[in-house]
Amino acid sequence: MSAFAPQSLPDWKRAVLKVGSSLLASADTGLSPRFALGLAQFVLASRQAGREVVIVSSGAVAAGRALLPKNGEAAQTMAAKQALAALGQAQLIALWQRFFELPAAQVLLTHDDLRNRRRYLNARSALLELLRLGAIPIVNENDTVAVDELKLGDNDNLAAAVASLVDADLLLIATDIGGLYSGHPQRDPDARHLARIETITPEVMAMAGEAGALGTGGMRTKLEAAAKAAQAGIATALFCGRDAATVTALGQGTLHGSLFTAQGSRLSARKQWLRHAPAAGALRIDAGACAALLRGASLLPGGVRHVEGDFRRGDVIEILAEAGQLLARGQAQYNAVDGARIAGRHSREIEAVLGFRYDEAMVHRDDLVLLASHQSDHGEVAA
Ligand code: GLU
Repeated sequence: MSAFAPQSLPDWKRAVLKVGSSLLASADTGLSPRFALGLAQFVLASRQAGREVVIVSSGAVAAGRALLPKNGEAAQTMAAKQALAALGQAQLIALWQRFFELPAAQVLLTHDDLRNRRRYLNARSALLELLRLGAIPIVNENDTVAVDELKLGDNDNLAAAVASLVDADLLLIATDIGGLYSGHPQRDPDARHLARIETITPEVMAMAGEAGALGTGGMRTKLEAAAKAAQAGIATALFCGRDAATVTALGQGTLHGSLFTAQGSRLSARKQWLRHAPAAGALRIDAGACAALLRGASLLPGGVRHVEGDFRRGDVIEILAEAGQLLARGQAQYNAVDGARIAGRHSREIEAVLGFRYDEAMVHRDDLVLLASHQSDHGEVAA
């Protein structure tokens, strides 16, 4: 059992579990099920308890290297690593699939996918749909096409981005040490366990050591990931994925490791963003749609009277009452041209009109924040 004292894991419904290369692969023997098995059991037990888990798994490059022992070791160029990632990725998914009767789904993302609002929304919808279908999404960086400027660079930061993308309430980082120490755990005899971290200050950052041998991260990128998650209202738990008892305890809601608490609530982080992101256009809606919005429903195309501006799918837009009063802001499921074509039409007709359909809503309730009630004057309405 990890030497870190037990503490309760915050309550969670949807988590991202990041599994580092050091738990899955070694440069000479390649992928190993040894530690993945316990983590997979954790994922299954969580699902049985009604919780959802997205796995972010490293190990493709290391697995690829082991597949080509003669050439692999020397391969250090970008192109060589991209080739190794392509080779190893197939093995990586096969490794995970062995543990699950449920289908595993491979999702490869680059930084660009998350920066571009349309692709962000596409990635989000696909991941949420996979969870709804009962599949196990397994995300990795799309190393084969991600040259430096497209790269998130490490899977810790990728995991934090995915946690925000899918509205997770917890980020779990499985690594090969017990948690965060105040100094180097082997070299510094005074190194203490840091079990609970409320703010990642520069002093906390300074405690991060160097990267490990196989992954790209080390403790620094784990702290960066925890800081990003905290800002998005998501707590992060860091623990030793090699320790079977620690992984079992995690399934029972007990963490032996380090907990980075969230700053503010998850909902408010997303709402803040929807509230303040620049709007690329607007929709004017009828009274029926206004009433539906205020009840917490999605905005369906049937209630849209006018489409204004030139926005793309995923852009933030304003939602206005017919008289022009600002009611809400949200992310558009359809761009302005398609939006105008389906405005006033029933959701059933979307496919016939456009030839495709992303969603029955023009703006989905999960992507929407209400700003004011147009009937009363008491400011903000809870979304
Ligand atoms: N995406 C890389 C891989 O699968 C790992 C990156 C990382 O470990 O941070 O090999």
